[in-house]
Amino acid sequence: MLGSIKGLKVTLVTMMRKPVTAQYPIPSKRLDIEKRFMGFPALLWDDSNNEPYCTGCMVCVRECPTQCMSATMTDNDKFTEEKSTRKKIIDSFEINLSRCIVCGICVDVCNFDAIEMSHEHELSKFQRNANRANLESLLEMGKTFQEKIGWKPVQIKNIGDPVLRSKLQAEAKEKLEKLNSTDAKVDTKPEDLSK
Ligand code: SF4
Ligand code: SF4
Repeated sequence: MLGSIKGLKVTLVTMMRKPVTAQYPIPSKRLDIEKRFMGFPALLWDDSNNEPYCTGCMVCVRECPTQCMSATMTDNDKFTEEKSTRKKIIDSFEINLSRCIVCGICVDVCNFDAIEMSHEHELSKFQRNANRANLESLLEMGKTFQEKIGWKPVQIKNIGDPVLRSKLQAEAKEKLEKLNSTDAKVDTKPEDLSK
């Protein structure tokens, strides 16, 4: 008898509880995507001088385990005009997203902060080969991602605007020198005290 009452109590509590299920793909009933979520890779846009971060160096293309990427580079006119720190720039890029296994290796090997695993994951198609993303769509995906998470480049050396890059490098150098001089003072303290 007591067991039945306990069971009934559980049923009643469950009936009153707010549903915890997500109803994909209804936009208002989905779960939020975490910042660290890994969707398809996307190319990033450098707002400092309005061009892609990607130099077309092909390192990611060589390392991709499923060989689903291709890229070509070209000379960057902005570099000759001293408006960019990138001598070469991406000319064409394609990722066959149907073959991408979302491993993130392309992001890990890129030394130019040019590619990130975006939050895009809803690109299913009925045709086997219809999911090829070109440079334009990869940059579009990247811009949406950058805006959403407030993305910033990891390395100052990858900033495209030469003036801004020099300024930030000088500031970083100054900070490091201050830090080193503080460390040096701390190191000499025991000697000073013994005098
Ligand atoms: S995304 Fe990075 S590694 Fe790939 S081609 Fe562009 S700069 Fe090179
Ligand atoms: S995430 Fe992996 S499989 Fe997909 S493009 Fe990058 S390296 Fe290739």
